[in-house]
Amino acid sequence: MVTQTTITKASTILNPLQRSGTRFEWKIDCYDGCEHGCRYCYAWWIRREKHPIYSSWVNSTPVLNVVSNLQSQLSRMRDSTKENIKDIFISSLTDCYQSLEVKQEITKQVIETLIENELPFTVLTKSANVLRDKDLFKSYDKCRVGLTIVTLDDNLRKSLEPNSSSITNRIEALRKLKQAGISTYCSVEPILPDKRSNPIDIVETLREYVDLFEFGMWNPKYNSQRMVEKILGTIYDQDYYVDVFKNIKEYCDKHSINYCHAGHSEDFLSKHRLKFIPYPLLLESISKG
Ligand code: SF4
Repeated sequence: MVTQTTITKASTILNPLQRSGTRFEWKIDCYDGCEHGCRYCYAWWIRREKHPIYSSWVNSTPVLNVVSNLQSQLSRMRDSTKENIKDIFISSLTDCYQSLEVKQEITKQVIETLIENELPFTVLTKSANVLRDKDLFKSYDKCRVGLTIVTLDDNLRKSLEPNSSSITNRIEALRKLKQAGISTYCSVEPILPDKRSNPIDIVETLREYVDLFEFGMWNPKYNSQRMVEKILGTIYDQDYYVDVFKNIKEYCDKHSINYCHAGHSEDFLSKHRLKFIPYPLLLESISKG
């Protein structure tokens, strides 16, 4: 159902994800660019040679032959390699449920292929479009579905993540996924140095619908520092995050809420002796029950 004429070729679709700052070892990206256009986006920074300007990044396109490439890659893969896959991240450098997906249905076919091959995967998105595939997730226990929420203030969301789903719709998506018995998570990354991005408020609002919260600080190394500072009306100061993480830890421990840190915050947390667990890959979580 690929209808766009501008498409990007990829010979392999299930790719290793090493030295990325996350614990995921495998990833699938079905689109090139991302129409959500988040001002703090690290993926755009990584892909800056291909997309030097913002308008190119948000004018995303499907990757060609994702599904057939994935199927043939999996058919060539040894059973022992497949058995060692603990989690596949969808997506790393794009959003798998941006509005292009509504017509293209590439992510949906990728998920069907992974389910047929009994492979574990984690979906992360900023789009309520993910609900379209609720029944697929519901029928399969080796998956986790997450939505990113870094603020409850929809005006701030519009400035920071202009083409993504509203906060209300994302919360509703998490509620419906949880209600369907799907393992849910909420990525609170990047926490921004602004009281409108208070992670405790986010946890209090969402704790009923979320099985696992993941927290990560903003890393302004990934371009757009001045743009985000202008939107927030504040200047980045790493020390801001010491109290933020202390408060998260205290609140989540007190209320028995499952939480972990995102990969990029690991060094900062160990420097400040703040004990967080790293993101638990799906098969590790399942094996621990
Ligand atoms: S949704 Fe993710 S990949 Fe897309 S622009 Fe936002 S941060 Fe970048």
